[in-house]
Amino acid sequence: MATQISTGTAELRDITKMERIGSHSHIHGLGLDDRLEPRESSQGMVGQAKARKAAGMILKMVQEGRIAGRAMLFAGPPSTGKTAIALGMAQTLGPDVPFTMIAASEVFSLSMSKTEALTQAFRRSIGVRIKEETEIIEGEVVEIQIDRSLTGATKTGKLTIKTTDMETIYDLGNKMIDALSKEKVTAGDVIAIDKTSGKVTKLGRSFARSRDYDAMGADTKFVQCPEGEIQKRKEVVHTVSLHEIDVINSRTQGFLALFAGDTGEIKPELRNQINAKVAEWREEGKAEIIPGVLFIDEVHMLDIECFSFLNRALENELAPLVIMASNRGVARIRGTNLHSPHGLPPDLLDRVLIVSTQPYSPEDIKKIINIRCEEEDVSLTPEGLEILSRLAQDTTLRYVLNLISCAQMLALKRKAEAVDSADVKRAYEYFHDEKRSVEWISDQTNHLVSEEGVDFAVGGQ
Ligand code: ATP
Repeated sequence: MATQISTGTAELRDITKMERIGSHSHIHGLGLDDRLEPRESSQGMVGQAKARKAAGMILKMVQEGRIAGRAMLFAGPPSTGKTAIALGMAQTLGPDVPFTMIAASEVFSLSMSKTEALTQAFRRSIGVRIKEETEIIEGEVVEIQIDRSLTGATKTGKLTIKTTDMETIYDLGNKMIDALSKEKVTAGDVIAIDKTSGKVTKLGRSFARSRDYDAMGADTKFVQCPEGEIQKRKEVVHTVSLHEIDVINSRTQGFLALFAGDTGEIKPELRNQINAKVAEWREEGKAEIIPGVLFIDEVHMLDIECFSFLNRALENELAPLVIMASNRGVARIRGTNLHSPHGLPPDLLDRVLIVSTQPYSPEDIKKIINIRCEEEDVSLTPEGLEILSRLAQDTTLRYVLNLISCAQMLALKRKAEAVDSADVKRAYEYFHDEKRSVEWISDQTNHLVSEEGVDFAVGGQ
């Protein structure tokens, strides 16, 4: 097995890229200048200057490969931008440095042991940049025959491009069908085909991405062009994560398992073989390790076993930078009866760099509300902004940002172009924030079904 280890293709990167959560879609980076000084409002980021600068410094070290195996903790009240800053970091790192984001509670909900879930998250956050010499075939399209009758599925079938090197191309099979489905190839196009990944690129002309594969309609399509073919060698660099290499080599359908997200547990022996192989590639100059970032949100939800795993895993040679976030003050360390700051055991706290986030000033709150309105295409009157900003100080920023789209609905109903204070007030009446919800529960004690002897958690505690 060890000698057969495969890395899959460069396309793998796209599969594990996380979907950005809607509520942070206005964040496009940390908003720092070249000297890592925070701009007042940039890339969707406002305020929280110290934390953003600290995040920028850490990123610089990550980019220089100097901070692997360390840990950092964002500690601060709810809605103070801990997650937003972590996402800003991910965007600044760019696509080649892996960034993995998990909520600590996910570790308990997966169909695998806690330590396996954490190991997978760690290995997702380590990139292996692989240099490969691949053969690129360039030639004009002579004939394309797409036969979907084999499976009836829309994106599988048989593809034949008649060139003198037809057999080699035929071997690429479905990989190429997929690539061609995204890029319409027509008569006279000059294309390049990467023999390793099957990626098809049109050369010499600009063309629009199209969904025309389905529009081709019929089972077969022929495109007649003059023959011609050149072959050349080219160095291709792609980055995959250690976890992707694990999965591809752990099952016959490894590649598909990545799509499904159900990768199961991976045997430690296989991981050892892969580590050994990657070390060999490094020595031969074929691969480079790219330590990435693992972000663990609500870290206080981990338990003592996970914390002791983290302590050990951080010492591993192949460890990413681990960034944690918590909105807890002194809290119980799960799995024990001990209490400690942020619910983290003292030995782990001792090794983390702690960055605190502060509540926002009214001016910053207004700027963030304005940015969100722009993002959601909402016009807001000055009175509407004023009342939203006051509400954010009394409740939380997140609650108020959620109210924006509700208030817009109400404005649209009365055929108004901009959201006014009256719309905000009505939305506020319809939707409770946490404080009012607690008050309402207290009023309803005789009517609601309650569990006996349960302590009330308020304000994220
Ligand atoms: P919690 O502890 O409850 O998880 P958090 O500190 O992670 O909260 P976020 O979720 O990052 O808070 O912030 C709440 C909302 O405010 C999000 O929509 C976020 O994008 C936005 N936000 C927070 N801080 C900023 C900022 N500095 N600039 C722009 N938007 C921000």
